[in-house]
Amino acid sequence: MHPDTQSLKICILGAGMGGLTTALALARVGFSDITVFEIASSLGFVGAGIQMAPNMARILDRLGVWQDIAKEGVVLNETSIRQGSTDSELGHVDLKYIRETYGYPHMVGHRATLAGELYNGCLRESKSITFKFATTCEDIKFGPRPSFTAIPRKDGDPYEVECDVLLGADGVKSSTRVAMLQALDVVANVQDTNQAAYRIMLTREQMSNDPELLALIDADKVIRWIGEKRHLIAYPVSNKEIYNISTTQPDVNFAAAPSATYTTKGSKKAMLDVYDDFCPMIHRMLELVPEGEVCEWKLRVHEPLPTWVHGSVALVGDACHPTLPHLAQGAAQAIEDAAVLGVVLSHLPNNATPSDINKALKQYEKVRKERAETLVELAAASGRGLHLGDGKAKEERDKQFAALKAGKGPVPDKWADADVQRKIYGHDCVQVAEDLVKAESNSA
Ligand SMILES: Cc1cc2nc3c(=O)[nH]c(=O)nc-3n(C[C@H](O)[C@H](O)[C@H](O)COP(=O)(O)OP(=O)(O)OC[C@H]3O[C@@H](n4cnc5c(N)ncnc54)[C@H](O)[C@@H]3O)c2cc1C
Repeated sequence: MHPDTQSLKICILGAGMGGLTTALALARVGFSDITVFEIASSLGFVGAGIQMAPNMARILDRLGVWQDIAKEGVVLNETSIRQGSTDSELGHVDLKYIRETYGYPHMVGHRATLAGELYNGCLRESKSITFKFATTCEDIKFGPRPSFTAIPRKDGDPYEVECDVLLGADGVKSSTRVAMLQALDVVANVQDTNQAAYRIMLTREQMSNDPELLALIDADKVIRWIGEKRHLIAYPVSNKEIYNISTTQPDVNFAAAPSATYTTKGSKKAMLDVYDDFCPMIHRMLELVPEGEVCEWKLRVHEPLPTWVHGSVALVGDACHPTLPHLAQGAAQAIEDAAVLGVVLSHLPNNATPSDINKALKQYEKVRKERAETLVELAAASGRGLHLGDGKAKEERDKQFAALKAGKGPVPDKWADADVQRKIYGHDCVQVAEDLVKAESNSA
């Protein structure tokens, strides 16, 4: 890359999975002036697990951080979908083929490890990447050189920042998205999914007196227990020292809350009541959550945006494609965004103009938008299928589960379906981006 291009000033708002990976991807292709602004005073990731599918692993490996993440991860060899009320198995899928087919196994890990290793990767590029924690960014403007006001929480006065490229990786509540839609005079709203999630981590020690629960943490298995409008999904993380459970249920606690509220301390009794008709083992598991440590998350998505790009500003991750977690692809898709930004911006010409930057960001949008939005839709559809109550649709779904048991047909839990996996894991976004850039430069 030409030194003029290398020294373009790039600002990233948000140090979540999307922002961290974007910073790392851009530093790795040679950009040397990258600043990441983050409201929180540190990485501050929730205590929760995360599924790390091969399409995520492939990118993180190329960025040099996967080996350290995988060290502590757990390889999932199988998945089981069960009736929540009885614990009887509806469907079982062998996941061992994934490593052979896609080059990486389906792994699960701790979010803090994933984020921590991405951050360590950025620190190794400290000549190129600067972090400004405890800094809120507001008042985003879209000129030939975008700008915003950075407001440090403690030390110093607010200051203006002008840059060549501004990337809004500021999550589902993105201020960059709000500013962009305003500038474009477009209305697109955050959508209420009417769903909420409890996120729970139990230690091996907490489970140690219950052989049935110990068997869960010892297995290389992700289990989803389903019921009408609800489910739990669980798997071991952190070298099987922690059992991670994430639930989905109708939202009652946030229903009246303003859209600014996304998490709340939950009531243990309310949590137990939601899963009242689930099997005794699940009750024993939920009983282990210490009183006062129940945390509930509101699940929100967004209407598809007309564009992710305006001038030299682009949106990344949940800022432009927040999703329900039912395909376990939200962070993976943010990481794909980052990798593609690395490709398209690395091909900028010498002395790149705002119009060159806009063209590159439009290439990013071309590679990413349709794919990410398709997966958001698929995650929602998978949730609808899993949450069916009695009736014709559920009978049809259960016929599919029965056929699966007999060895044929699609998996109603879409993330575990081989055709869906081919579409998600078999896609090499870096290659697709390289091909697009090449094709467009040949035709220019
Ligand atoms: C229950 C649940 C389970 C999930 N499971 C999985 C899974 O198994 N696999 C998977 O791939 N994904 C999963 N996801 C999705 C995944 O967590 C998200 O899609 C992903 O974390 C989004 O990353 P992001 O960087 O885009 O946004 P965030 O992680 O939200 O990061 C945005 C950052 O921007 C900062 N910020 C916001 N506004 C500003 C501002 N104005 N100035 C400066 N900083 C700002 C915020 O503080 C935050 O740190 C799950 C999600 C949920 C809710």
